[in-house]
Amino acid sequence: MDKVSKKVRSKVMSSVRSKNTKLEQSLFEMLINVGLSNFSTHVKYLPGKPDIVFTEEKVIVFVDSCFWHGCPKHLRMPASNIDYWQTKLKNNKKRDRVQRKELREQGWKVLRIWEHDLKNTNSIIAKISRSLRET
Ligand SMILES: [Zn+2]
Repeated sequence: MDKVSKKVRSKVMSSVRSKNTKLEQSLFEMLINVGLSNFSTHVKYLPGKPDIVFTEEKVIVFVDSCFWHGCPKHLRMPASNIDYWQTKLKNNKKRDRVQRKELREQGWKVLRIWEHDLKNTNSIIAKISRSLRET
């Protein structure tokens, strides 16, 4: 790996990461605004360190960036280091599948919210509150 591509790669990573933090933040605020504030964030003891965990209702919400989790609609591969990214994103998706299966087996209900869904505030809130009521 040469110096330049390393630099570019870490730049891509850090910009995507900070964007994702903002996505999570906006969802946290959204939930608190509608009174669904009884959740923990980034729960380390659970597989995948879920973004949002409603412990009592056993509902987990992941906010997935279209890039890191390989959204079928929006994933655009970076122009360089294609092999690296393809492997990396493939492994990410595989890890997601394994972790979420594990959570379901532990009795959690697992919801996934894509980055591109975050614009539809109402439908997200509806989806989450429906899951919370069902349990
Ligand atoms: Zn997407």
